[in-house]
Amino acid sequence: KLVLGIETSCDDTAAAVVDETGSILGEAIHSQTEVHLKTGGIIPSVAQQLHRENIEQIVKKTLCASGVTPNELSAVATTVKPGLALSLGVGLEYSLQLVNQYKKPFIPIHHMEAHALTIRITNKVDFPFLVLLVSGGHCLLAIVQGISDFLLLGKSLDMAPGDLLDKVARRLSLIKHPAYSTMSGGKAIEHLAKQGNRLHFDFQHPLHYCRNCNFSFSGLQTAVDKIITQKEKEEGVEKGHILSCAADIAAAVQHTVASHIAKRTHRAILFCQQRGFLTPSNAILVVSGGVASNLYIRRTLEIVTRATNCVLLCPPVKLCTDNGIMIAWNGVERLRAGLGILYNTEGLRYEPKELTVKPAGIASY
Ligand code: ATP
Ligand code: FE
Repeated sequence: KLVLGIETSCDDTAAAVVDETGSILGEAIHSQTEVHLKTGGIIPSVAQQLHRENIEQIVKKTLCASGVTPNELSAVATTVKPGLALSLGVGLEYSLQLVNQYKKPFIPIHHMEAHALTIRITNKVDFPFLVLLVSGGHCLLAIVQGISDFLLLGKSLDMAPGDLLDKVARRLSLIKHPAYSTMSGGKAIEHLAKQGNRLHFDFQHPLHYCRNCNFSFSGLQTAVDKIITQKEKEEGVEKGHILSCAADIAAAVQHTVASHIAKRTHRAILFCQQRGFLTPSNAILVVSGGVASNLYIRRTLEIVTRATNCVLLCPPVKLCTDNGIMIAWNGVERLRAGLGILYNTEGLRYEPKELTVKPAGIASY
């Protein structure tokens, strides 16, 4: 079985061909990060235009690198939600054209399901397992009981950690620093934080009084904003210039994010162990999504998994951020399980399916 995966949900045009063993036959990606950094955020119509300009060559490059012709594919899998509607539309339109031309099955993919299952490319992880998804648009803890069967334990009540880190990086004007000008906000903060002392700033830890597994990052964003404004005044630095204490702020923000994520995950692990969702033989915490590429956050989570006798598994950094491989792999998983495959897409107006998430009733725990 060979599946072509196509991803255009946000600002990366990506594709890959993966077989049923998880071997990556070929892949290609075009990142729009640099363009969007310059405009201070993603403008959907600009993202759409860039996807349109790149999708054909990205898919052709992928097929060429794979040594596979469209006729040899078993199916085409494409992200259909969640994401920017204009961006998703480009991938969907191109994919439908391809499957109709070559008479191939089409597998619509939920982007977060793909992030959650990525680990199964590289590690033998059986269901159920606990997953923490931390990215630019999401923050959630769930028990993955099957390919499309998620039991939701908690989620962010406001913004996602990647979004917070992107905003802080922008507020600190890191784009103006040659070393960070091409990096995503989260990556720039991680690098800058290495030179800082987190103890120079003390941010309040969100939701410490809440006995559940939800997350919150917007209070932290407001607090960071306030500190930066105050420091700009103190240092006599104009807004948009880099503060001398930027590295300390980056380190403190990263630490607060890591610690908040770790505490909520600790609660989730204890809940799962008490309720029998995680047994000693399958005590696995999978962490995925763009923010999971952060090594400081990984190390903080490792303290939690060690203390609770769990195993921490993260996909390689390259597979944490958006890519075509995870989409193709999700297609392989669905194809093998006979799930969500569309054989006739003629005249299809695709109604995206919801990720099956049932609340686990953790609030009373
Ligand atoms: P979602 O998956 O929720 O739809 P997305 O697809 O836009 O969102 P991803 O590509 O999964 O997001 O992740 C991108 C996010 O990850 C960005 O916010 C980016 O700042 C963050 N990120 C990338 N590398 C790192 C890092 N090393 N440390 C922290 N955050 C990072
Ligand atoms: Fe993503």
